[in-house]
Amino acid sequence: SPSRLLGVDCDAPPPRSAEILSRRESHFAKPQKNYYTRPPQIERGWKQHMFDVTGRTYLDMVNNVATVGHGHPRLAEAVYQQWSMLNTNSRFHYEVVAAFSERLARLAPDNLDTVFLVNSGSEANDLALRLAWAASGARNMLCLLEGYHGWTVGSDAVSTSIADNPQALTTRPDWVHPVMAPNTYRGPYRGPNSTADYVAAVRPTLDALDAKGEKLGGFICETVYGNAGGIALPPGYLQEIYAEVRRRGGICIADEVQVGYGRLGHYFWGFDQQGVVPDIITVAKGMGAGHPLGAVITSRAIADALEKEGYFFSSAGGSPVSCVVGMTVLDIMTDEELQENARDTGDYLKARLEALGQRFPIVGAVHGMGLYLGLEFVRDRQTLQPATEETAAICDRLLALGVIMQPTGDHLNVLKIKPPLCLTRESADFFADCLARVLEEGW
Ligand code: PMP
Repeated sequence: SPSRLLGVDCDAPPPRSAEILSRRESHFAKPQKNYYTRPPQIERGWKQHMFDVTGRTYLDMVNNVATVGHGHPRLAEAVYQQWSMLNTNSRFHYEVVAAFSERLARLAPDNLDTVFLVNSGSEANDLALRLAWAASGARNMLCLLEGYHGWTVGSDAVSTSIADNPQALTTRPDWVHPVMAPNTYRGPYRGPNSTADYVAAVRPTLDALDAKGEKLGGFICETVYGNAGGIALPPGYLQEIYAEVRRRGGICIADEVQVGYGRLGHYFWGFDQQGVVPDIITVAKGMGAGHPLGAVITSRAIADALEKEGYFFSSAGGSPVSCVVGMTVLDIMTDEELQENARDTGDYLKARLEALGQRFPIVGAVHGMGLYLGLEFVRDRQTLQPATEETAAICDRLLALGVIMQPTGDHLNVLKIKPPLCLTRESADFFADCLARVLEEGW
């Protein structure tokens, strides 16, 4: 088996947890944000499950990088084969780089046929900003309040989510112009018919730039309101905003890092749902199934504009191993019909969660589609007061029952559901049953 090839002995007894924890705490800079006070020490994964160092099994409802499921033997084998042949940077290697770029270009709308390969979503968004600046000849960028685009300097500058990024508000450069996000659940113009109001809310910012005679470089946003738990943008919203941005010479960037690439089930890209075609797509996370891999997909004209201004080079971006990972993920997604599974299992799970909403008033809403769902907890369905402490407690109780989750949103009152796309109906039932038990028994 590939795990044997790679020298991993799956039958070995697990190492002891206390020792690992103390070693990690001694030298690991600072653990990434962790919502659990006592996080499990995960050692292995298999499909939609993860196992900790004591051998306990968890259902992984949060790991949206693990698109094809943990420990996929085809991926392990493909990486082993390519690494044995060659791994170097993309300027010396051609065949897999060409094949993967071609495949990505085919997945994107027709005019977006030029691909840059990078290592992460943050890097992809930094590059997208540079491309927009080069192509428009202007700096000013619009972004949505409470959005998140990454932690590198550029992507952080256009991120305003408080939950994900507490420093962002203090470091905002003057070329960044956050505008009101069209939150149809808890925004000031709630409801599905709020498009005109939310578009109107952007106008003062555009008018202020026009009045100063300033040009617009572009607009970046997620095509589904991710930070708030997967709330769809109101119909036609992107069409109208894109038109305003393009009228001013700006470039429209669709951040598909989290929601795109099949996770929504019914759509491959989030922007498909809005009936628009962006000028630049950024993608990462799931496309590499946890391996560092990201991409920017754009038109030849926009790519050429950057070439005139400077250059792009990423040492490990688009390495042969990364490209093989990307190709194999797409092969597995096709052969195992994972986007279709995201649609069907996602719809099934959403219906089960909505049924819980009928029984338990703390369930304010079930947002999202496919395997990108958000379960929003509120103290009162009229005032929508966020049930923040309750959400943390529910999350802890779910962990005790063997489900790994993560609260999200600026009030940390939304459980984001983004499991591997191979989630089975049986696992969806297990999750819904655990949640029902927690809501029944209390937390
Ligand atoms: N954009 C979005 C919408 C994201 O959710 C994330 C990661 N949470 C990023 C960009 C940054 O991606 P990465 O962590 O790979 O740098």
